Amino acid sequence: MPRVLLTGTNGFIGSHILDTLLSHGVSVRGLVRSDQKARQVALDHPQAGSQLDFAIVPDMTAPNAFDEALISDPPFDAVIHTASPLSYTAGKTLADFIEPAVRGTMEILEGVNRVAPSVRRVVVTGSFAAIGNPKDMQGNGKVYTSQDWNPITEEEVSSAEPRLAYWVSKTLAEKVSWKFMQTQKPHYDLVVLNPPMVYGPLRHSVTSIEDVNVSNYNIWRDFLNSTKSSSIPKEWVHADIDVRDLAEAHYRAAFTLKGGNKRYLIARGRISNQEIADILRKYFPEAHDRIPIGQPGTQSFPDNAFDIDGDEAKRDLDLTYRSYDETFKDLGRQLLDIGTSGTKI
Ligand code: NDP
Repeated sequence: MPRVLLTGTNGFIGSHILDTLLSHGVSVRGLVRSDQKARQVALDHPQAGSQLDFAIVPDMTAPNAFDEALISDPPFDAVIHTASPLSYTAGKTLADFIEPAVRGTMEILEGVNRVAPSVRRVVVTGSFAAIGNPKDMQGNGKVYTSQDWNPITEEEVSSAEPRLAYWVSKTLAEKVSWKFMQTQKPHYDLVVLNPPMVYGPLRHSVTSIEDVNVSNYNIWRDFLNSTKSSSIPKEWVHADIDVRDLAEAHYRAAFTLKGGNKRYLIARGRISNQEIADILRKYFPEAHDRIPIGQPGTQSFPDNAFDIDGDEAKRDLDLTYRSYDETFKDLGRQLLDIGTSGTKI
C-alpha cells in the first residue's frame, strides 16, 4: 500500500486530499498541530481505520520540525505539504505569514532530504498568489501561465495588507523551494500545484460560519449573507478550481504524473461574480433576498480581464473538472446550513 505524509490534514484542502488518498487506497500519516485536531480529523474520516495515523507538529518553523514525523515503517513514498497560513483575521503581521510559509516548506524539503530516503516526490500546494501580480488584478488581457511569477517583494508590503502578505509568503516559499532543489539536488523531485480560488463543500468540521476557510467564507459574506439590492462585488481573482478536483490533482501529482520538478498553474477557468450570483440564485430561491441580483446573464469582469492557461496541468494530470453549477450548488447548500445551525460537524 503506498504511503504519504500529509501536512495541513485538518484544513479545507487538506481534508479533501486526505479523503481522496484514502479512496485511492493510500495509507496516510496526517500531520496536524495538536492532539485535539487529530481527534477531530479521525472523527471526520471514520472510514479511514488503520489507513490513517497521525503526527503532531505544534511548530513547523522549529529546526528539524518534521524529522520524527517523516520516519515511518512502512516508509513514505511521497509527501504532500498543504499547511500554510491563509486566514486574514486576528491582526496578522507580515512575519506571521512569511515565517511559517517559508520555514515550514524548507523544513519539509530539508527533512525529507535528511531522514526519508524512500520518498520519491514532494507535492506542495502553492498558489496563484505566487504567479499573478496582485497590484494589477485587472490584467490588461494578460494570460497567466506556469512561467509567470508574482513580482511583488516583501519590502513593498506593509503589515496593514494581510492579503498581500499572504501573496508574498506563497511566492517566497516557492522560490526558496526551487532554489533548494537546484542547489541541494535531493533524492526526490518536487511538484508545485498553483491554484487560484479554491471553492467547494467542506470535508472538515467547523464550529461556526466564521470558522469557514477564507475562499468559501467570501461566498457566504458576499453572496449568501448580503442583500438582493447590493452591488455585485468587484472581482479579485476571477478564476477557480473545485476543491475535489484539486484533491484528485494532488493524488495524481504524487502517484501518476511522469516526471517531476514542475510547477503547474491549475485552474478550471474564469468565472465572474455575477455568474456566481446567478448560479446561487438558481439553486437557492429561499435565499433570494440575501443574494445580490446585479444584471443576471452577464459577466461582471471587464473584457480585458486577465485569463489563465491551465492546459498543461489538465493534460499532464489528465484532469476532468466539475461544473460551476456543481461546485456552487454543493457549497451554497452547506454554507446556508452552517449559517443557520452554526456548525458543520
Ligand atoms: P485552511 O485555512 O483551511 O487550512 C490551512 C492549513 O494549514 C490548516 O491545516 C492549518 O492548521 C495549517 N496551518 C496554517 N498556518 C499554520 C502554521 N503557522 N503552522 C502549521 N500549520 C498551519 O486553508 P486551505 O485549506 O484553503 O489552504 C491550504 C493550502 O492551500 C495553503 O497552502 C494555501 O496557501 C493553499 N491555497 C488555498 C486556496 C484557497 O482558495 N483556499 C487558493 C490557493 C492556494 P491549523 O488548523 O492548525 O491552523
